[in-house]
Amino acid sequence: MTIVVIGAGVIGLACAYELSDLGLEVTVLDAGAVGAGASAGNAGWITPFLSVPRAAPGAVRDAVRSLFSSAAPARLRPHLEWDFASWVMRFLRACSKRRSSRATAALQALARHAHEHVDSLLERGVTFEHHTEGLAVVFKRAANLQQFRRLTDRMRSLGYVGEIEVHRGQDIVAFDPALRPDLAGVVHLVSERHVRPETLTAGLAKALAANGGAVIEHDAAVRLQSRPGGKWTVDTSEGRQLEADQVVVAAGYASRALLKPLGVPVPLEAAKGTSMTAYGRGTAPSHPLKLYESMVACSPFGGAVRLSGTFDIGRRDFELDRKRLDTVVREGLSYLKTWRPTEIDVEWVGHRPTTADDLPVIGPVPTHEGLYLATGHGTLGVTLGPVTGALAAREIAQRTEHALLTPFRLDRFGVRIRTPELV
Ligand SMILES: Cc1cc2nc3c(=O)[nH]c(=O)nc-3n(C[C@H](O)[C@H](O)[C@H](O)COP(=O)(O)OP(=O)(O)OC[C@H]3O[C@@H](n4cnc5c(N)ncnc54)[C@H](O)[C@@H]3O)c2cc1C
Repeated sequence: MTIVVIGAGVIGLACAYELSDLGLEVTVLDAGAVGAGASAGNAGWITPFLSVPRAAPGAVRDAVRSLFSSAAPARLRPHLEWDFASWVMRFLRACSKRRSSRATAALQALARHAHEHVDSLLERGVTFEHHTEGLAVVFKRAANLQQFRRLTDRMRSLGYVGEIEVHRGQDIVAFDPALRPDLAGVVHLVSERHVRPETLTAGLAKALAANGGAVIEHDAAVRLQSRPGGKWTVDTSEGRQLEADQVVVAAGYASRALLKPLGVPVPLEAAKGTSMTAYGRGTAPSHPLKLYESMVACSPFGGAVRLSGTFDIGRRDFELDRKRLDTVVREGLSYLKTWRPTEIDVEWVGHRPTTADDLPVIGPVPTHEGLYLATGHGTLGVTLGPVTGALAAREIAQRTEHALLTPFRLDRFGVRIRTPELV
């Protein structure tokens, strides 16, 4: 079986590597460079605990408030388009208590396997920067810490087994000397991990090449066509025509536009985020930190520190918004005692591919034999990339269905999918 994977982000590469490891012939096609989309400048957390959909009760109130605040960490940029209106309507529906509880349980069930699949990559010789100091959620306000502790009870009831420690008062600085001593407290999710995401995509691409797989960079898929007998052709911007028995669409937010001409509507929207990675002076954090009130992520990577944040739904441009990035940096630094950036390594923007219920879309398109989707991982592509790759590859290679992926099929949206025209 020959397979073309569209998109060399963490999702496409994880699928491609796993498929190649099962002995299949794989070519990955990317419009840009390997791992240069959303999978580049993100926080790199592998966090089963925080694998919770944003579509939840309370999200609507926050979205309405964000329309009136330019400094809100999450913002909504409306568009006068049917696709956007329909995305918002579905999002609103997904925020009901019942739907959001069901979605959380499904995400938790999948995310529970995140670490074992990261370990499996490491065991098979995939190399990347990988850290095991856990993840610390840091609070300025005691009331927020109390509220978060209720979430830990809920996660326990859903089967989360990781160790959790709470640090307060003098314990805070003993736990991580980079933190200010006057903070309200820290919840240390001891079992969580983080990776430098650029090294994960580079490591997967290298391992894919070692298995005989190919990566074509700077060449975009412009048209997918299904042929008789379940075959596919992929036309590219550079004039290639690739043939395949199976096409995996893992093009992040751009998957929506790629699939639309096939009559496969995926309710996907871009949620723009931004980050600054810098070297600095002072005491750098020794743990990745979720800076709770500011919704900023702080990740230490081999000498550098990355501050990332903003969740701007409907912002589809690639412009670096200086004001938004400055707010992320300022808010992030307000939790740190002495560390300050002195040498900027990279400033970045990326689009989280976000579905209307904030769950990924993973699985075959039932009406289009040989077409498989792996996208929409929103805030969790790094966490869920390795497990998505492994399970999707098994489904494709063995033509089986994995129960853990059932909640993530496209048909949950009740979208009308056009029957393909064969050429
Ligand atoms: C600020 C920020 C912080 C984040 N932190 C975390 C975190 O800590 N943990 C976590 O789990 N997740 C995190 N995320 C989310 C994570 O980054 C994404 O979920 C993940 O990177 C999505 O991966 P992807 O492969 O689907 O998309 P992408 O990485 O965007 O890859 C899609 C690829 O498809 C290519 N492409 C697009 N169109 C075409 C075409 N027509 N033909 C060929 N190629 C095409 C693009 O060039 C791109 O390389 C964060 C995101 C942001 C923005």
